[in-house]
Amino acid sequence: MSSREQMLALGGGLSIIVGSDGTCPQSTEAVRANGPGSVRIFPTWRPGEGLSEEALGLGFRFGVIVRNRDPRPRRLQLTVDWQIPQPHPRRVFDFLYALVAGAADWQMIHGTWDFPVARFCLSLPPGDSWLGLNPRYNLADLDAFITRLKQRRHHDLTIRVAGHSGQGRPIPILIIGDPGRSKHQALICARAHPYESGGSYALEAMVDFLLGDAAATLRCRYAVHVLPMLNPDGVYNGLSRLTDLRGANLNLVHTKMDPAHDSIQAVIKEVRPAIMIDLHQFLERDRDDVRSTDASFLARLAQKLPDQSHVAKRWNLVKWELGSIPEEQLNWSQHMAREYGGWGLLFELPWFGRTAHDMRTLGAALVQAVFATHTERTES
Ligand SMILES: [Zn+2]
Repeated sequence: MSSREQMLALGGGLSIIVGSDGTCPQSTEAVRANGPGSVRIFPTWRPGEGLSEEALGLGFRFGVIVRNRDPRPRRLQLTVDWQIPQPHPRRVFDFLYALVAGAADWQMIHGTWDFPVARFCLSLPPGDSWLGLNPRYNLADLDAFITRLKQRRHHDLTIRVAGHSGQGRPIPILIIGDPGRSKHQALICARAHPYESGGSYALEAMVDFLLGDAAATLRCRYAVHVLPMLNPDGVYNGLSRLTDLRGANLNLVHTKMDPAHDSIQAVIKEVRPAIMIDLHQFLERDRDDVRSTDASFLARLAQKLPDQSHVAKRWNLVKWELGSIPEEQLNWSQHMAREYGGWGLLFELPWFGRTAHDMRTLGAALVQAVFATHTERTES
């Protein structure tokens, strides 16, 4: 057990574990046992008074470990009390994702919603199961990804540290291809917002595609810089949106002073990307967003976007009007396009109805579509 990890026994062989890498809540103070196999959890609880989505009732993060020590499956009656102050159409959390002990992929589970409370009834096999609003992707998952990449010893891959977070965690950068010899530089990033694990699954698939044989020509033309986790402190500490309870919003160019923010800014300034892909994951159910700084790139990309009707999603295209965005709302893709004239893109890819396999397949298709669009435009 790590030093911060806390366990609460529920009776009936089950216990809840919180306080480790990326759980939310982070303390058993926000977990209430309700009799054998029954528990109420308050995911927007924070150890102090937070700002915006770190304030009570406003968070989007939820993730806990449920341990079943019994040799048989046990039933869990789970109540998730979001403590939302006012009913809101986008704050209806009547589903969760589970990676039950021994399962190969995350599964979405429907519950009942009685504002602001969701209720679920689950059967959990022996061992540790993860339950959360989104599939888990925390620092241990990032470490496993980096370890896997290092073991691959790919001749076109360099792994470095771009900087450190406010709490001293490294912010890794992957460099695919040779920045000195490539015609164009590109930048891909994810996890400015800690709850948005979908971006990490898409990003892993993008990197795997870019390192594969099918991308050998692409690697000669482009050097791709990848920042897989912009906000390791927020991810580790179970936050929704910021670097700290009252910290920086790393999506924004103008936010509170923050070392992770400085690292992102320095990378963009050094790389001057011709393409920037910023991966996010909102909570809409029926659409994926692609937002772009360039209308003609966007129109061409639209023809290559993978059909997502099998997961009941349609593509929503947004062309940003760069001149009319107020400075305080400016994000990195927009900033990059304004400063260096590159093509800025932001994807919002929600989980709802998707498995981890679906999200990876989508990421691989998107990176191909974006680079094919850019190549067509710049080589023609
Ligand atoms: Zn976001």
